[in-house]
Amino acid sequence: MESLRFLSPKEIDDIRIEFGTPVFVYDEATLRENARTLKAFPNAFGLKPRYAMKAAPTAAIIRIFNQEGLGIDASSAHELERAIRVGFGTESISLSTQQMPENFRVWVDEGVSMNLCSLNQIKIFAKICPGGAVGLRFNPGLGSGGTNRTNVGGPASSFGIWKGDLEEARKLCKEGNLEVTRIHTHIGSGSDPEVWKKVAGMSLDIVKEFPDVLSLNLGGGFKVGRMRGETSTNLGEVGGPVKTAFEEFAAESGRELLLELEPGTFLVANACSLVAKVQDVTSTGEDGYRFLKLDAGMTEILRPSLYGAQHPIILLPEDRETPTAREMEQVVVGHCCESGDLLTPSDGDPEALATRMLPEGQVGDSCVIEGVGAYCSAMSAKNYNSFPEAPEVLRREDGSFALIRKRQLLDQILDNELIP
Ligand SMILES: *Cc1c(COP(=O)(O)O)cnc(C)c1O
Repeated sequence: MESLRFLSPKEIDDIRIEFGTPVFVYDEATLRENARTLKAFPNAFGLKPRYAMKAAPTAAIIRIFNQEGLGIDASSAHELERAIRVGFGTESISLSTQQMPENFRVWVDEGVSMNLCSLNQIKIFAKICPGGAVGLRFNPGLGSGGTNRTNVGGPASSFGIWKGDLEEARKLCKEGNLEVTRIHTHIGSGSDPEVWKKVAGMSLDIVKEFPDVLSLNLGGGFKVGRMRGETSTNLGEVGGPVKTAFEEFAAESGRELLLELEPGTFLVANACSLVAKVQDVTSTGEDGYRFLKLDAGMTEILRPSLYGAQHPIILLPEDRETPTAREMEQVVVGHCCESGDLLTPSDGDPEALATRMLPEGQVGDSCVIEGVGAYCSAMSAKNYNSFPEAPEVLRREDGSFALIRKRQLLDQILDNELIP
């Protein structure tokens, strides 16, 4: 049987009793350690680390990163407001959004930095804030996301200003009297130092075209291995070549650039586990499958259904006294009336079902899904089948458990409905 990443079987029993299932459990020690690792990223002339809060935006989580001295990368004005309410200073927030808020001028005046992500955004900004300082997000033409749906660079990605439109972007900024002080490329660089070196080089080539740029933002997208045996990004290793590239750029141009980074996944992915329960077991016969049905599913974790993402699944018998059940191939599914609500898709292919070797599951067993800190609670099919949003709990550094988001009530689901 696979071992648990940070919870003990005893803690899982306690969590079930105190909070019920399904429940997300975050580990404060891991969150803080990841923040410190990020702050130690090799850099030549300074580093501004931020947390891409769309990965997990709960107040208690972003408060921890605030205490650790990280800034925020917000992807909408709503996220920005959430960060401010938790105590982030506007000057620590960078907004890179696919949808410019109507009132963005207010935020710019308050000190939020904006990364303009399209030619149209430059036009809008220039009209409302002529003479302002901006960042520009470019798509350098290269991407390395794991799947089509996680790729955020290259010709199939809509994010950022296409590299071929650089001249047009420069012209629009000039016309609007905008000072370009930051360049941003977020392509999902993975864990390969060679790719990081290449991305840094391509991004520095863009910086060359903008003489007022003071900082280069390489985004996030650091690969994190969720399954055992998968590699995670070693920041020291990928940061070395980046640092060298900045130093070489400085030697050539006399410009000492600040490095900005804004990972989401890296900071939170493996800092959270979902504790769920097997609430039914069905089978499609000898030539079919044995299905374990959880009391959680796409209402908590959409990544398997969207990307064919693989997460560790650990089954713990309800009755610890009985000898450990024999292992067999089983399919783990969620609780929604939806065939796509599948927790064991084929690797990278959400269309295909796969099995997992797990102890023969029984109704009542605990089922822990790990590596669910990033883009799970934050990106679920919330309220589908009218299941309430699951609670979130923080395991404090002293080992105690604190509720950081309550289980949603039916009344809250219905709150905005009106019958005319
Ligand atoms: C989502 C996002 C990130 C974080 O990406 P991860 O893969 O979670 O590290 C960083 N920057 C921008 C602009 C983003 O949209």
